[in-house]
Amino acid sequence: MKVGVLALQGAFREHAEALDALGADVALVRVPEQLAGVDAIVLPGGESTTQDKLLDTSELRAPLTDALSGGMPCLATCAGLILLATEVLDGRADQRPLGLVDVSVRRNGYGRQVMSFEAPLTVAGLDAPFPGVFIRAPRIERVGTERGGAVTVLAEHEGVAVLVQSGAITGACFHPELAGDLRLHERFLSQVR
Ligand code: GLN
Repeated sequence: MKVGVLALQGAFREHAEALDALGADVALVRVPEQLAGVDAIVLPGGESTTQDKLLDTSELRAPLTDALSGGMPCLATCAGLILLATEVLDGRADQRPLGLVDVSVRRNGYGRQVMSFEAPLTVAGLDAPFPGVFIRAPRIERVGTERGGAVTVLAEHEGVAVLVQSGAITGACFHPELAGDLRLHERFLSQVR
């Protein structure tokens, strides 16, 4: 099993290191041929507007959409979750999210860089709280409930969903790769292996 990390922009190295520490066979994905060689993919945080553009220049938009629609396991964090949402609020006019996770997310919905924060999160399936690192995080303002596209909330912060599951896709508003805690990467790998 090979685990890909989309490496167009953002915190992809930290994800690769976390997966590597867990013994995964990791490959950085920058072109369609590399995507074709992986069984699962991490979409890192960073800047969603830039990543959105790079999906086009790299020609990864269509194959990534196909792979994820076909059930490829995915861990999408922060900007990565914005890329997959059905609706982006406060996005750029030309931002075209893939619409694979039925949530509405507001970019920078927790405020600017100075408003970044850390909070212990109670996560479904984890025994002890997970340290949630929020950096210019997207805020989930709507969670889809319709059958087929139903989204399960795995963790909330102050009553708002911050970790969701939709089919084989796990989406986080925070940065598990910066938490010094590998349990969410472990959980992701358990869905792959
Ligand atoms: N605010 C960023 C965006 O809109 C996301 C921040 C992050 O990934 N840490 O893309």
